[in-house]
Amino acid sequence: MMFMISVDIKKSYKFRVKGCPTTTLTELEKPKRVAMLPEKIPGIKPKLKIKVDEKVKIGDPLFFDKKNPKLTFLSPGAGKISNITYGKRRVIREIEIRLDDQETFAEFPTLTLSDLKTITREDLIDSMLNGGMWPYIRSLPYRMIADPNDFPKNIIVTIENNEPFHPNPDVYLIPNLEYFKMGMEILKKLAEHSVVGSDLSHPLIREQLKNTVTHHYSGYYPAEDPGVMLYHIKTSDTQNLAWYISGQDVIQIGKFFKHGRYPIERIVTLGGSLAIEKKHFKTRIGLPVKLLTEGRVQSNEFIRYIAGGVFRGYSVVKDSYLGFYETALNLLSEEEKEETFGFLRFGYSRPSFSKTFLSSMNQSELKYDCGLHGEERACVNCGYCAKVCPVDILPQFTLKCIVADEVEEALSHGLLDCVECGICSYTCPSKIELCSVFRKAKMEYYKEINS
Ligand code: SF4
Ligand code: SF4
Repeated sequence: MMFMISVDIKKSYKFRVKGCPTTTLTELEKPKRVAMLPEKIPGIKPKLKIKVDEKVKIGDPLFFDKKNPKLTFLSPGAGKISNITYGKRRVIREIEIRLDDQETFAEFPTLTLSDLKTITREDLIDSMLNGGMWPYIRSLPYRMIADPNDFPKNIIVTIENNEPFHPNPDVYLIPNLEYFKMGMEILKKLAEHSVVGSDLSHPLIREQLKNTVTHHYSGYYPAEDPGVMLYHIKTSDTQNLAWYISGQDVIQIGKFFKHGRYPIERIVTLGGSLAIEKKHFKTRIGLPVKLLTEGRVQSNEFIRYIAGGVFRGYSVVKDSYLGFYETALNLLSEEEKEETFGFLRFGYSRPSFSKTFLSSMNQSELKYDCGLHGEERACVNCGYCAKVCPVDILPQFTLKCIVADEVEEALSHGLLDCVECGICSYTCPSKIELCSVFRKAKMEYYKEINS
């Protein structure tokens, strides 16, 4: 019997970003090199387990977290460690592996559905830590890797990610339902409830979710976010802790236990207005950005390569790699174009939250760019940010508390509920980077309470 709660997110904003990938799936050729980017994994202090020129198999440990040495990160390729680069303060930026033609795998114990009835939660967690599966489970409200010592009420599984643009469940999930089911059975041992946020439109997905607590959501980005879901289902602030995982990562866990090998396959999208081939690609973890973009981008523009979605992603250079969690690359224009006689135009094609431009009447997709279109000014108390915040924060007041260093006050204004979606920053006519300020404040608070 499926138990369901309907969460209707009224606040948020319908973005009409041009460049949505189609559901066509193309297999990419095998890369010559892959890499892990420890710097992009939040909250860990990585320590290397390998050296340059060392040989590794797929699934051999590359590094671990100094704060929790059981938390290991495994190699997404078999071959030779060809390079290790460091950033500021010797932070490990990139571990690059030159791949062998014939790759070999480290072997791990397998599990069947009937084994799951008898294995203890502790043994299961140990297997996930050893097999590099644990980092897929992250926790709210700080969005770090989950602490295996916690026992949360909910693990929230996100099937759709509506932030422009991410893989579509019709492409990544439907062919992998068997693994998804196995992954879901494993999650059920880790928390009181595994909760799936989904629009449940697909009958095959509905079938797999029988006996799972399923919360239906409706609304625009970030309605499907686990933090938004938690905000609307929790009954008190003491329930701020929940774990979450993406649908594609549930499949990874299912594959790992089924085959006893570290799964490296990834379905990745290429999207954004400057991508020529906007679609899904079957490839692997640690993919070189160049392999995905070569011949697939418009060459006459200054392009920003964004790993992840257009609001929460980060810029990458062409010669880099996609991070461990990333399943999307979006390409937007870097240029902030000055329009000739712009003051005479009515902005029919100009993306904006403000109704000042005629684009509010234009229902077609619009070409977004990375420009701020103005400089930061003082808050004018327009209230746009509060109008769109899906977790009912009043961002303008929370910001004032943070600027005045009144942390307790910011917390009472809901700082920890912030899901870092970035919509408030987008809508702000004063160009205040509200979301970055909130993310930084959350991080500082996390460090303070964990020091
Ligand atoms: S305050 Fe946080 S949750 Fe609310 S809109 Fe801004 S970034 Fe999103
Ligand atoms: S949107 Fe910007 S200017 Fe308007 S109230 Fe919020 S912070 Fe102030």
